[in-house]
Amino acid sequence: MPVSKKQEKTFLEHEYIDLISRKVTEIAYSHGYKKLLLDTIYKTSKFKKVKNFDNSSLVSFDFAKEKNFIKNNGILSFLSSFSSQIKDFPDSEIQKLFYIGKFVESVENSSKAKKINEFSNFGFSVVGNFDHVTDVELIQMAHEILTDLGLECKVRVNITGCVDCIKNYKKILSDYLRTKKGALCSTCAKNVIKNPFSVLNCTNKACQKIIMEAPLIVDHLCESCNNYSLSVVEFLDDINVPYILDPKLIDSEGIYNSVIYKFEIINNNDSYIIGEGGHFTELASSLSCNHKVCGFDLNFEQIIKRLKDYNIPINIYNPDVYIAQIGEMARKEVILLFKELRQQGISVYINATEKKLMKQIAEAKAMKAKIMVIIGQEEIQNKTAIIRDISDNVQEVINFNKLNKEIYKRLIDKIFINN
Ligand SMILES: [Zn+2]
Ligand SMILES: [Zn+2]
Repeated sequence: MPVSKKQEKTFLEHEYIDLISRKVTEIAYSHGYKKLLLDTIYKTSKFKKVKNFDNSSLVSFDFAKEKNFIKNNGILSFLSSFSSQIKDFPDSEIQKLFYIGKFVESVENSSKAKKINEFSNFGFSVVGNFDHVTDVELIQMAHEILTDLGLECKVRVNITGCVDCIKNYKKILSDYLRTKKGALCSTCAKNVIKNPFSVLNCTNKACQKIIMEAPLIVDHLCESCNNYSLSVVEFLDDINVPYILDPKLIDSEGIYNSVIYKFEIINNNDSYIIGEGGHFTELASSLSCNHKVCGFDLNFEQIIKRLKDYNIPINIYNPDVYIAQIGEMARKEVILLFKELRQQGISVYINATEKKLMKQIAEAKAMKAKIMVIIGQEEIQNKTAIIRDISDNVQEVINFNKLNKEIYKRLIDKIFINN
């Protein structure tokens, strides 16, 4: 029975997830980050001290007289898993970690019926005695993942300082907004004292005018935060990370402070924030993680949506060599050849179940393989193989005992020509 359209869509979705996961893992390991496996179930009582903890979206259950819930937030799950799994690590050291996880949340549909929504996030975090280079490396890594996937990404960065700096600025901003209260929209007018940072994000034209002239946090940082801010910006400039300094970027939910950043994808006239990061030491301490912490958290579904917007084709595996076969004898031979090439470190692909050569040629092209090796009945008899260049379709018959050497030679030529 052929695969249905719905099933095909599911496979495609999984391929996207796999593509992103692989990219995340590759970048993480190449920068010395280790994987932290997140716990699945959390005791609700452990989250009592977490500010603004959203109980309503939890998928929870009672077990052994305790309320528990299934993981539903990247950063909180990371912090809780970290403090339960990594104990006794000295303050002078740093832990560089990343996670990839599936989460669940309870959502209400339009008729108020509850349903469970599943989503996937990944994140990178550094715990311990890190400095400005860590912040910059994190921004650069997230940027690298997104651009490697083919997305054009802007990074908005701001330095909002320590908890005292934010408290101080909150008062300065609130005092300023109070003098303009009459000209603000009704929502902003209500937030002037309670949450003046939310006013900075208002898109109302009248509010925008007032925000334009508002005092900026960057002019009100304490000496140590100001120095930190300068080192981050200088370092970002020196390693050419394309970023936009956004002095009004403040996390009104109060999770991130110090260096904070958002990743934005532009498509036509729309822009989408697909994740954010910064320092979250205060949040960490409310979950018994008593170290400095920074990092970011990005959502798979948001990234996949943007990849689809851009019509970015997914290529889950790009082999250098595609081995094609025709006929029963050839199928045996190609499996042996596949093993041999793979053991020699060549990235190679084989589809031993496909019987039509034309389909195999089309697949090799779609996978962007560099060369194709074709073995059929005639080649088996003559102890030869055909090498086909994917870019110009030129074919040559090669003796089987010279095949490996010829494949190496051609691959090296291709690398040098392409560079
Ligand atoms: Zn400060
Ligand atoms: Zn407003």
